[in-house]
Amino acid sequence: MRKKTYEPIQSACKDCGEDFVISVEEQKYFASIGLVLPKRCKDCRKRRKEIKKSYNGKTESWSTAEKMGKR
Ligand SMILES: [Zn+2]
Repeated sequence: MRKKTYEPIQSACKDCGEDFVISVEEQKYFASIGLVLPKRCKDCRKRRKEIKKSYNGKTESWSTAEKMGKR
């Protein structure tokens, strides 16, 4: 029987390019909730989470502003 072993994964953040480590704990956590491993460091993930949160309710004005900016 093959046992799945975990070890910390080092990866480069997609957003800021910094190297970050996905710990064994995190890998297990992401696997347990059925998510793929993050491509961003903790800071960028946190930032995106906050941005996403602040976008809620503002989605309309944001897309309008974007449309106006790009003709
Ligand atoms: Zn980052």
